[in-house]
Amino acid sequence: MQKETTLFTTDTLGNTGNPSNQFGEIGTLNNITKTDQPQSQIRQKDQQFVWHPYSSLTAPIPAYQVVSAHGVYLTLDDGSELIDGMASWWCAIHGYNHPVLNAAAKNQIDKFSHVMFGGITHAPAVDLCEKLVKITPAGLDKVFLSDSGSVAVEVAIKMAFQYWISQGQPNKNKLLSLRSGYHGDTFAAMSVCDPVTGMHQMFDQVVAKQHFAPAPQTRVHEEWDEQDIAEFAKIISDKKDQLAAVILEPIVQGAGGMRFYSPHYLKRVRQLCDQHNVLLIADEIATGFGRSGKLFACEWADISPDIMCLGKAITGGYMTLAATLCSEDVSNGICNGEAGCFMHGPTFMGNPLACAVANASIDLLLSSDWQANIQRIEASLKIELAPFEALDNVAETRVLGAIGVIEMKQAVNLAEIQKQFVAEGIWVRPFGKLVYVMPPYITTDQQLHQLVSGIYKVLASTPSS
Ligand SMILES: *Cc1c(COP(=O)(O)O)cnc(C)c1O
Repeated sequence: MQKETTLFTTDTLGNTGNPSNQFGEIGTLNNITKTDQPQSQIRQKDQQFVWHPYSSLTAPIPAYQVVSAHGVYLTLDDGSELIDGMASWWCAIHGYNHPVLNAAAKNQIDKFSHVMFGGITHAPAVDLCEKLVKITPAGLDKVFLSDSGSVAVEVAIKMAFQYWISQGQPNKNKLLSLRSGYHGDTFAAMSVCDPVTGMHQMFDQVVAKQHFAPAPQTRVHEEWDEQDIAEFAKIISDKKDQLAAVILEPIVQGAGGMRFYSPHYLKRVRQLCDQHNVLLIADEIATGFGRSGKLFACEWADISPDIMCLGKAITGGYMTLAATLCSEDVSNGICNGEAGCFMHGPTFMGNPLACAVANASIDLLLSSDWQANIQRIEASLKIELAPFEALDNVAETRVLGAIGVIEMKQAVNLAEIQKQFVAEGIWVRPFGKLVYVMPPYITTDQQLHQLVSGIYKVLASTPSS
């Protein structure tokens, strides 16, 4: 799900054999005996057969084998427990093996785990869609369910294109996006990722050409500078006749750079979209469900997009599920158009098991004082990250909600640093220059301290070049 393109260059070096030496006992799930071979059979076969995200099969970096997980901890096959600072790529907001989410899954699986969604409906999906409409910004009234974040982005883009076709304006078929953005790995999503750090160059012949405005420069709590939107305003005005939609990540640019920008920027984008008759797609796949301190990051600017994408934390990290919401204006346009329907329908659309867990996860979040909890994590991260500013190899640190970022001066060697983090009992997976944490919301202050102290110890001993 995430930019790990640095793997191609820096991280295929020096990763021989066993990532940890503490191989005394083999986990109970590994039904093998210890041999001279330092790696478990699972991990050997993993390297033989399995492709991991952004990974090489000719120069594989050994993966760690998880045998169980509970709370904020991942248990490895050697019995060691790691505090998970990643919430499994920002999804596991309630931690692992949560009794309420387990019960929701077990309860649903005993009824039915899946049925087709063409011509059939069920309570888990209907409840979820109603819930999503209620909790998202006003005006997002219709929900299209899909399997993953990238697909939710494809669906959003297709909605925008089909809307303009239905309005008799098929030439509005381009998108305007922001530099440093990330929207997924499928082809339409790739076309709106950052054109330099994304995969545009490699796939130059096949990725659609879109328009890009500079990344917002005014930071989240800084005073607004109208100059910051000038280039965006010029592009949208010049290209409005060919633009179907603007697509952006509200407030937090995630996997494209972990940048936090001013709500005023987002407000101005909304105004400019209205002025020039261009739809606004908010990709809240990373920010949705409280991560930035608001339930949805659009709330920072008090705006409603025309189309919104949700994913990642929607099931509390239990299963893959995503949603694309849109306004009634968009859905009416599409459905009253020539096709008479929206032209999309995933096989596993509205998977009941995933919807049941999503309902339980959202109820669990909303029944807690989640906002105070995110504020607690934010305050704690600010205190914990402050000392990093004094390190020679650190460019800066920044915190928003339950997101803490340490930007290094140089890209880190992932394979090397991952070993050191694991030796400290923490799971942190940097990309490029960015070492960051997006922990489960249940992480206590003491666990945060342990997590960030571990990072400090590793970075303090990492050479600055
Ligand atoms: C992760 C992410 C995606 C892609 O989601 P997948 O489930 O990995 O396909 C899209 N947009 C944003 C903002 C993301 O963070």
